[in-house]
Amino acid sequence: MGIRFFIVVLSFLFSGAVLAAPDIEKVRASIPNIDTATLKAELAKNENLVLIDVRTVRETNIVGGFIKGKRSMIIPRGWLEFRIEDAVKDKDAPIVVYCGTNQRSPLAVQTLVKMGYTNVRNYADGYPGWLKAGLPITTRDAAPNSFLYSKPVKVAERVWSAIGETSPSTYQNSGHNNNLSFVIGDDAVMVFNGGGSFLLAHALHDEIKKITDKPVKYLVYENGQGHASLGGSYWKQLGVEIIAHEDAAHEIRERKNGILASAQNRLKDKFFGTDMIEPDVTFSDKKVLDLGGIKVVLQTLGAAHSPGDIMAWLPSLKLVISGDLAFHQRLLPVFEDTQTGEWIKTWGKFEALGAQIIIPGHGTPTNMAEVTKYTKDYLVFMRGKIGKIIEDGGELGDAYKIDQSAYEHLDTYEFLALRNAARIFQAMEFE
Ligand SMILES: [Zn+2]
Repeated sequence: MGIRFFIVVLSFLFSGAVLAAPDIEKVRASIPNIDTATLKAELAKNENLVLIDVRTVRETNIVGGFIKGKRSMIIPRGWLEFRIEDAVKDKDAPIVVYCGTNQRSPLAVQTLVKMGYTNVRNYADGYPGWLKAGLPITTRDAAPNSFLYSKPVKVAERVWSAIGETSPSTYQNSGHNNNLSFVIGDDAVMVFNGGGSFLLAHALHDEIKKITDKPVKYLVYENGQGHASLGGSYWKQLGVEIIAHEDAAHEIRERKNGILASAQNRLKDKFFGTDMIEPDVTFSDKKVLDLGGIKVVLQTLGAAHSPGDIMAWLPSLKLVISGDLAFHQRLLPVFEDTQTGEWIKTWGKFEALGAQIIIPGHGTPTNMAEVTKYTKDYLVFMRGKIGKIIEDGGELGDAYKIDQSAYEHLDTYEFLALRNAARIFQAMEFE
């Protein structure tokens, strides 16, 4: 009786109670599959097709990227159930899932179907098939072996910039979502922006040391935001003098705890060493740094994106490191304290500088005409539309309906377009 009971228990354990490995062939046969030609044709027809790569970000970095598409995203298989509902709200949206070897993606399709998604298919050829066909890919990180999103590039003689991802700050980009620039003088190096974390600033310093043996003497914060100042924690311990506008210093004092908490939440282990350090030196109007052989004018031209916005103007090169005054390739964000009307006025003074090279706060280095298109022209457009709505007695709901599609190709559009409309409306009501 004892032994029989034992056998019953054993057979129970090895039947229903044990989760069997999935029969992947069966799963593949039970779901809709598409090939490379079909995916290519559908993407050409419908740019809103949702593409989900269920490999890990690390894998995509190692093999050079993932499939390019307007709604192309990486959601690792292990996070799918947790993240999909935030990423794709419409359960009837057309979704194509893929991976590397057609093992995880069929299971991911099954999961999404169980969760109520009605139009999910498996791209069976996966990333290798797409790559082999020479079709467009994109990369989340241009410098996968560094905390930097991309390594510094030379913009002009003595001037370099590590261009951040034109996206919100994420764990993947290690908070490198704005431009971290540096100017090399005969005596000293000035770094413009601390970056979003201690490790990011450290990675930037590693790159600077490969380019010059001159010491970093100054760190400048473009304003009081996290991605300007959190990396100050790295530079501070090296004794680098930190400089910012007095309003930025005030911002840091007021908002430090909240900014640190959200950075920690986002960066997790990558938050290591990060703190928000107040500047050692502040100024209200202008401060000139002589780096030896090159002068840098740190100055504010007036209110713009956020309190304490400053730029670094290099008259001998006709080059401006503009900070968040100027945006390129991504939609600018309007914050609660952003003064859009003043920003346009400040822009006039900016244009009067006669700068020929602009390293914007976000996006690749460019010229005045380009940043004007992405920054001032957008502000003028939005204020024009919203001014008209207010004049006609319209409401907030009308601001949401403004057709901003001329800017839809810009990165961060989907995060910011409606929020910008609301914030500009709410501010203009009281102007
Ligand atoms: Zn910024």
